[in-house]
Order: sequence, then structure tokens, then C-alpha cells
Amino acid sequence: LPGVLSELQESTQLMQDQQEKFLYRLRAAQQEITHLRSQLERAHLAATLDSLTRVFNRHAFTRLLERALSESTDGLALLMLDIDHFKQFNDQYGHPLGDRVLQHVGQLLRNLLPPEAFAARYGGEEFLLFLPDMGLDAVCERAERWRELMAAQRWEIEGQSVGVTLSIGVACAPQAEMTPAALIALADQALYRAKSEGRNRVCVADVPFALAVA
Ligand code: GH3
Ligand code: MG
Ligand code: MG
Repeated sequence: LPGVLSELQESTQLMQDQQEKFLYRLRAAQQEITHLRSQLERAHLAATLDSLTRVFNRHAFTRLLERALSESTDGLALLMLDIDHFKQFNDQYGHPLGDRVLQHVGQLLRNLLPPEAFAARYGGEEFLLFLPDMGLDAVCERAERWRELMAAQRWEIEGQSVGVTLSIGVACAPQAEMTPAALIALADQALYRAKSEGRNRVCVADVPFALAVA
């Protein structure tokens, strides 16, 4: 009996040792997974966000817009925003300060947007906003409110009080299917009018039949 008992003790000890080793390896693997997951999240963010303004980049926005357009039936709007005379602003205050302003504009847009909406940096000082489930009147009312808000906003940067104004082009998707490119072209056309009519204003695009069925 003592011999059997000692054998049993030995094999139990062996099993305990193996179990501990296994748990140690399991914990290490869990830590590795957590680390890889956070790296993956960061990589995913970097691939979809504009690094300066922290809104979506153009590529991610287009993909989101494609999906929204294919799923939506009506009440879908796109706003194209362009900072007025930004070249002049850079010339006066310098490019680094201009970058800080772009960051502030991105932050303001992120804070303003309703939950289903999203924003992107389309180009240098141009932004796109996507607003779902909203009629033209409500979209224009919001665009006007945001334009006013931006015009009244001042930022204290490097001891200077600075601000910018925005020109905004609004395009609403009609019932017929539209491609992202067609909707962006419409908003761009409205933005062009806002610029030529004096800037710091909101203009709405007409929807030509040819584009509505593109
Ligand atoms: P408009 O009212 O007609 O839009 O005039 P604008 O000067 O804003 O437009 P324009 O297209 O002539 O110039 C765009 C300027 O935006 C030029 C460039 O210096 C500035 N810009 C573009 N990207 C950046 C950026 O990443 N950082 C900074 N600081 N400036 C930028
Ligand atoms: Mg521009
Ligand atoms: Mg501009």
C-alpha cells in the first residue's frame, strides 16, 4: 500500500506541475491576444481615420457612403465644407498654426454630428459630412447653424486668437439611386456656388435628372 500511495502522490504532483505550466502558457497567450487585438484596433483606426483631424479619411468615407446609399431609401444628405481663404490664413499665421486649426475644425465637426452622421477630411481644407434620415429643410437648417457656429468660433493658439469661416455645399439624394461620386459632384457644385456668391454661406445643389439616375 505505501508503494501505491507514493506512486499516486508522484503522479498527482506531476499532474499539478503540468497544470501549472499549462495555466502559465494560457495566461501568456491571453496577454498576447489582448496585445494583438489593441494593435489591430490601432491599425484599423489608422486605416480609416485622417491622422491630423481624427475624422474619417476619404477612402473610408467613400466606402461608408456607398453602403449608406445602397441601404437608404430617402432623406440622405451630403455636405461639402471648405475653409474660406485658407491659403491666406496660412500665409498670415504659418502652416503649423493652420494645421492646429484643421484639428480644431475636425474636433468641432465630430462633436456637432448626430449619432448616425459621419464626417471625413476629403482633401486639404475640405470636409464631407454625411447626414441620414433628414429632409432638405432640416439639413439646411443644420448646415446654416454649423456655418454660424464656425464663424463665431475663436481658438487661442500660440497666443493668437484665430478663427475661420466655411462655405458649404449641400446635396440631397433623391429617391432614385445615386453613386457616391455623383452625390459628391453635386455637393461640390453647390460649394462652388457658395464660393462664387461670396463665401461664408450655404448653397444647395439642384438635382439634374441625368445625375439623379446615374
Ligand atoms: P477658398 O476660399 O477659395 O477656398 O480659398 P483657399 O485659399 O481656402 O483655397 P485654395 O484651394 O486656394 O487653397 C487651399 C489652401 O489650403 C492651400 C493650402 O495651403 C491649405 N492647406 C491644404 N491642406 C493643408 C494642411 O494640411 N495644412 C495646412 N496648414 N494648410 C493646408
Ligand atoms: Mg479647397
Ligand atoms: Mg478653401
